[in-house]
Amino acid sequence: MPPDPSQPLLEVRGITVRFGGITALDNVSFAVAPGAIAGLIGPNGAGKTTLFNCLSRLYVPSEGSIWFDGVPLQSHAAHRIAALGIGRTFQNLALFRTMSVRDNVMLGGHCRSSGGFLSNALRLPHVRREEGRLAEQAQAMIELLDLREVAHRPVSDLPFGTAKRVEFARALMSQPRLLLLDEPAGGLNHEEVDGLRELLRRIQRELRLTILLVEHHMNLVMRVSDQVIALDFGRKIADGTPAQVQAHPDVVRAYLGVEA
Ligand code: ATP
Repeated sequence: MPPDPSQPLLEVRGITVRFGGITALDNVSFAVAPGAIAGLIGPNGAGKTTLFNCLSRLYVPSEGSIWFDGVPLQSHAAHRIAALGIGRTFQNLALFRTMSVRDNVMLGGHCRSSGGFLSNALRLPHVRREEGRLAEQAQAMIELLDLREVAHRPVSDLPFGTAKRVEFARALMSQPRLLLLDEPAGGLNHEEVDGLRELLRRIQRELRLTILLVEHHMNLVMRVSDQVIALDFGRKIADGTPAQVQAHPDVVRAYLGVEA
């Protein structure tokens, strides 16, 4: 069934996270519509990574709840999050550097494979069929992300910007409906950031993805996002279109440290 655009795909309801005496997130709520690209911004220490870690269920909020497609995330074990339809990339590349691009991408399909240890070891027919399906899907991702020419090269051979595309391809192998991107523009040059913007739009369109990205690169966030959510000291200070958030006095104050 196609997603109901009137229902948010992701709903964060009043979440609070404390580390000892520090309140990293303070009663944060927002919703992201299916198919939207949402940017999460805020100065250092605002709580962006903490929020991401709650969405991928690495942290459990002390208060509030997170709903994905109408289901509370807390009702699923952390290892089920990818199978549920939430994929993520990391701030620092989390790839196997000596393995080929293709093998790294293939690994991303692992969470959807159903073969158990014994049937994998015996290479039963259904395991071979599934491997074939995964290889086809990996090829499609390699094409989508323009990695065909480097598919057999080890990741350690690649420039940083290309390796980032491998991480994307791997995250997409789990067929997520929501993709969480942690600072995708980090370490990229000007030209690569432009390429990334086009890529995000392309995968949103072609795979009908909903994307939430944490990003310090304001130009990218403001140009690619349909919605921007701003945090400061763990609290949400603005939520709206890029133009609305950019002009919000609390956002100007948080970034410039002056009265707007
Ligand atoms: P940055 O842009 O620098 O990555 P951020 O917006 O991602 O910052 P967080 O990393 O979520 O911010 O941190 C929010 C607050 O929570 C900070 O004060 C940070 O020091 C604190 N914090 C985050 N993780 C932990 C932890 N595991 N233990 C203790 N304090 C933490």
